[in-house]
Amino acid sequence: MIRTTYRGRPIKVLAARGNPHQRKLVVNGRTIHHGWQGDDVQALDWFRQIIDRIEDSGGAGMVAMLIPGQYTEPHWYEPGAIDVNPRGHATRPGGICACSLCVIDDPCGSKGRYTLLPVDACRYCHQLRDGHKHDAVFLNPHPYTEPTEVQRAGRQAAITEYQQQDDDPDEATCDAIYPEKISGYLSRPRCLYFADHRDAHDPNFHYDHRGFRWPRETARTS
Ligand SMILES: [Zn+2]
Ligand SMILES: [Zn+2]
Ligand SMILES: [Zn+2]
Repeated sequence: MIRTTYRGRPIKVLAARGNPHQRKLVVNGRTIHHGWQGDDVQALDWFRQIIDRIEDSGGAGMVAMLIPGQYTEPHWYEPGAIDVNPRGHATRPGGICACSLCVIDDPCGSKGRYTLLPVDACRYCHQLRDGHKHDAVFLNPHPYTEPTEVQRAGRQAAITEYQQQDDDPDEATCDAIYPEKISGYLSRPRCLYFADHRDAHDPNFHYDHRGFRWPRETARTS
């Protein structure tokens, strides 16, 4: 039997009743295999590989872009270090889940389907203390639990960032959108320069938050 924590996730590897060559695999209290073929060491290795792969693919929420449809559930993550959206999917605190169910596709750039989580939302779900339902859909039953500092900080940062958008019309950004989708991008690249490109290193190029550059359309049809 193995009881350990790997990258914040509590893991258990148990002997399967009546079969010495099988293991029961549990992560965060959730049984994910009743009869996994292999011994303790192999099972722990398997867990490590999956968890490393999740983190290498962007972690909570973002992994959904590189490994579609998998590892959206909260039991794959360190408890209290993630948020859980109304669909029951894990996100970084204050972040979104990039799976096809949690994103609204839009030609101007995809965006998260759910509103930002309030700072005081539950540690294990999107609900507030008031009216918290123990058995909400998609979730394991649990009472309202105070969020962790990591969750509060992430949520507050997301709210602040949202409020700072279009504060001052003079400071409007260019917002030009690259015409094609790029692999690894949730939405199309969007230009971050001021509308008149006065802050641009080279005004003939748009520039996004990852440093992606593309030529500015200066040609006006004459
Ligand atoms: Zn999702
Ligand atoms: Zn809750
Ligand atoms: Zn631009």
